[in-house]
Amino acid sequence: MSAPDVVIIGGGLIGASIAFELAAEKLRVTLLDRQQPGQEASWAAAGMLSPGPHLPGDLPLVPLGQESLKLYPQFVAGVEEASGKPASYARTGALEIFLPPRGEAERDKLVSEYRALGLAADPLALEAVLQWEKSINPAMSAAAWLSEEATVDSPVLMDAVLAAARRRGVEIRAGCTVTGLLREGERCTGVVAGGERIAAAQVVVAAGCFCGEIPGERDLFARYAPTRPVRGQILALRAEGVSLQRVLRAGRGYLVPRPDGRIIVGSTLENAGFDKRVTAGGIRQMLDAALEMIPGLAAARLVDSWAGLRPGTPDDLPILGPTDVDGLLIATGHFRNGILLAPVTAKLVREWVTRKRTTFNAETFSPMRFSSARPQAQKAP
Ligand SMILES: Cc1cc2nc3c(=O)[nH]c(=O)nc-3n(C[C@H](O)[C@H](O)[C@H](O)COP(=O)(O)OP(=O)(O)OC[C@H]3O[C@@H](n4cnc5c(N)ncnc54)[C@H](O)[C@@H]3O)c2cc1C
Repeated sequence: MSAPDVVIIGGGLIGASIAFELAAEKLRVTLLDRQQPGQEASWAAAGMLSPGPHLPGDLPLVPLGQESLKLYPQFVAGVEEASGKPASYARTGALEIFLPPRGEAERDKLVSEYRALGLAADPLALEAVLQWEKSINPAMSAAAWLSEEATVDSPVLMDAVLAAARRRGVEIRAGCTVTGLLREGERCTGVVAGGERIAAAQVVVAAGCFCGEIPGERDLFARYAPTRPVRGQILALRAEGVSLQRVLRAGRGYLVPRPDGRIIVGSTLENAGFDKRVTAGGIRQMLDAALEMIPGLAAARLVDSWAGLRPGTPDDLPILGPTDVDGLLIATGHFRNGILLAPVTAKLVREWVTRKRTTFNAETFSPMRFSSARPQAQKAP
């Protein structure tokens, strides 16, 4: 078989979405995963498509998230058509609720911040909230309606994207661990995986939080893709007598209803290395937040719990784009937003690979920012 044009390292939602996009350009694409693809962070995620800033450092992400949210309907339509499977996208909006004593002031601040960023946000009267979502804590003091937000069921979307990529001719190799890159001078010419040398004109690194674990290339990835695992624990509840139609968020957590009746409760944010255990403290933190939003969940059954490792980065922003090693691109570090950002990431990589430039300015996210930051840091007293 002839060599692929592009090899992608990592079959999470980011790698699989890139593979799907590139295959539309009639490129020969090989997607490598060290296990079955789609079993890591992309499987674990709550699936909120929420471009609003949740932390002050998120601000540079907002335009990227908005662009991706705009691309979502077209992206999932393409995936559903190619795969014949549902992609589970639902534009249900989200409610953010606030509790006394500062509820109204906090709500007004969120609404004005969102509007200044071009995001839809409206104050919602408490009577309206309780009509929509009868189970919500009546002690809340204010609410905002975020009408543009949407959700996906992450494992369902993951499965559909992998199937769609396969149908477009992507070769997907499971159980194929990449241990190093092939080089000719300053050029990356492929990868070493399972002892095999796989040549390719372009290599895209989409290994999530595991980039630094690629044994032959630790120094290189410390420079271009310094990711770290950030654990997120998550729960699933089933409750008779509690209804929830849309995403509900408050300061301490969130609830995401699934069509099968489960309510997903998230999430912790922990530096726990590559440990994916669910802990008593994590469960307590999430249940406290859930019961504060919907007290009736006290009678719910805890039907599942799991944890995933988000790909964090030094500045909490994704790492996207070409490096100064010819033929080597990075697409990782999506931290808390990789499900939201999959369509825009796939589109950007497609443009870099096929046109060498992008229609969206993604310079802020360049993998080169870590190496160019180093001399400045040394100048500081
Ligand atoms: C609890 C939780 C809730 C979340 N909720 C949301 C949410 O609501 N909305 C949102 O947008 N995002 C959310 N996220 C974040 C999102 O899940 C991630 O940003 C996203 O899944 C990252 O995708 P990825 O493809 O980069 O990484 P991953 O899904 O981790 O995939 C990386 C892949 O690379 C493979 N790999 C690693 N090393 C190698 C190697 N050497 N060779 C070959 N393959 C390799 C792995 O096996 C894996 O399959 C959440 C995350 C968690 C944990």
